[in-house]
Amino acid sequence: VWSRSSAVFLIPIGLAAGQRWEWAEPAMGTLVRITAYAPNAAAVRAAFARVHELDDRLSDYKPDSEVSRLSGQAGRVRISEDLFRVLSISHELASDSEGAFDVTLGPLVRLWRRARAEARMPSLDMLERARAAAGFRKLRLRPGEVELLVEGMALDLGGIAKGFAASEALAAMQERGATQAMVAVGGDLAVGDPPPGAAGWRIAIRHEVLTLSNTCISTSGDTEQFAEIGGVRYSHIIDPRTGIGLRNQGEVTVIAPSGALADGLATALGVMDPEAGRALLSKYRAVRR
Ligand code: AMP
Ligand code: MG
Repeated sequence: VWSRSSAVFLIPIGLAAGQRWEWAEPAMGTLVRITAYAPNAAAVRAAFARVHELDDRLSDYKPDSEVSRLSGQAGRVRISEDLFRVLSISHELASDSEGAFDVTLGPLVRLWRRARAEARMPSLDMLERARAAAGFRKLRLRPGEVELLVEGMALDLGGIAKGFAASEALAAMQERGATQAMVAVGGDLAVGDPPPGAAGWRIAIRHEVLTLSNTCISTSGDTEQFAEIGGVRYSHIIDPRTGIGLRNQGEVTVIAPSGALADGLATALGVMDPEAGRALLSKYRAVRR
């Protein structure tokens, strides 16, 4: 049994069939945990290789990742298939959420990271400058390439990349015949077929235990990451309308058909009013728990 704030994984016991593989490794700024039933460890190895590949492409805290190198570059830039896929989903989520979910908030995310480290509010001037360099309509996406239209832009995939990676790592195992598997990238999970003899993977969120298979589930909230300045707690999730971290943010858990959607929607719901949030979920066949 192990836990990461709200998500606790109850490992099924008393299994007869198959060999159970479990491994945990740091990647994507968090801990990646994989459990699989397979004849050998090859599938699990492939899954971790896939996660590290995505880490190299999508992580903003790696200065030499594809997305970090992209930020600040003018003109059309060729991008990998993975980055294109993540940006396509991000763009659709941004349009559908009226910008509540927005991966171009990089300059604001950086500003708030610094504010958190210094426990001091950013100046209005700096806030304005960061807001001017953010906004999903300032990013133009074409097949295989992207263009950042305004100077000083920076992409931040922190609200979607972990869920995307969880799905991709699970797919890497499934392609190798290991369909009874689960991947957790921090609080973003993708689960495949149930473990032998079980109805599903048992996943504890807050006060309930869910039994899930062949789906994805993400939890977003400020239980771990927030800034406290002048007695006010600001979430690491930014309201794009104000450029300021959410206050009094609770936890949101979303179950969705893909990891990128579960992750992105959980982040978006924190920003949206409940009614707009419900409409967004139904479009993507996702549910909130
Ligand atoms: P999550 O834990 O999945 O909710 O992602 C939170 C992370 O997403 C933050 O640490 C930022 O990197 C990024 N982020 C913050 N605000 C937003 C937003 N409104 N839309 C998209 N990504 C955001
Ligand atoms: Mg998210």
